[in-house]
Amino acid sequence: MARLRKRSKEPAPEAPQQARPRRGGAAIIALEDVTKVYPGGHLALERVSLSIDRGDFVFLVGPTGCGKSTLIKLLIRELDPTEGAVKIAGREIGGLPDKKIPQLRRNIGTVFQDFKLLPNRNVYDNVAYALQVIGASRAEIREKVPETLRLVGLSTKLHSYPDQLSGGEQQRVSIARAFVNHPPLLLADEPSGNLDPVTSIGIMQLLYRINKTGTTVLVVTHDREMVDKMRRRVIELYEGRVVRDETTGGYTEESTNEFGMRMRAEMGVGVEGQTNGHDRVEP
Ligand code: ADP
Ligand code: MG
Repeated sequence: MARLRKRSKEPAPEAPQQARPRRGGAAIIALEDVTKVYPGGHLALERVSLSIDRGDFVFLVGPTGCGKSTLIKLLIRELDPTEGAVKIAGREIGGLPDKKIPQLRRNIGTVFQDFKLLPNRNVYDNVAYALQVIGASRAEIREKVPETLRLVGLSTKLHSYPDQLSGGEQQRVSIARAFVNHPPLLLADEPSGNLDPVTSIGIMQLLYRINKTGTTVLVVTHDREMVDKMRRRVIELYEGRVVRDETTGGYTEESTNEFGMRMRAEMGVGVEGQTNGHDRVEP
């Protein structure tokens, strides 16, 4: 499939948003009446329809077992829907021949709760590996890996191995790996599920920063407090159905640091969660 183009996000239009569904043309993700029944008969998703525009930051929430990870797996064609259509950048991915699936996944960064880092490679090599497997040149790797590790605040840890890092740092490596290729879409399935609240804010701040580069971000979480504070669009699943899809009114354009400061203040934590003071790339 054609490479998905990233939409420039400068300046981001942040007018109060209307009820879904939103205009069809700009959608980077669209599910149309998607039902997923697992072998054995378990109904994991039931007639789910939703649309996410390029450049959006969206949360997907709901209790354990409601179908969040199933939905993520449908987007990267790890699973096929039983019924309905899953479209990425306007193209129904169910119709992609198997040999095109790597190309689809190259355009979608993925982050998981358990980091999935290579234990025998250091931070630099874990991130470089993501470029090596898609045939990037050495020059590109030498440029993009340090740049991305700077973005996530890990410039001083290039030579560390995963077991020498905190959970929050490991998740930053996995985000760097997902983003090093600058995909137009980033999916994060419970990225802060194993992290304490302060560290979680740092991870959300990082995803926010990535969203500001123009990448569409979809974050699965069951951290209600975090979601409420972030004031972004929230899609809620319950027993495989969409039961809520709304944008909390009144969110304003913030810099990444303003965002982090507000989150810490609202969640009642100090600045100790700020792990990248000397690595900031944005005002
Ligand atoms: P969530 O991520 O919201 O916790 P999942 O999407 O992982 O939920 O799972 C949704 C439902 O589908 C759950 O009831 C789960 O037990 C079931 N399920 C998930 N994966 C499989 C599978 N491979 N085979 C059968 N049932 C599954
Ligand atoms: Mg899950």
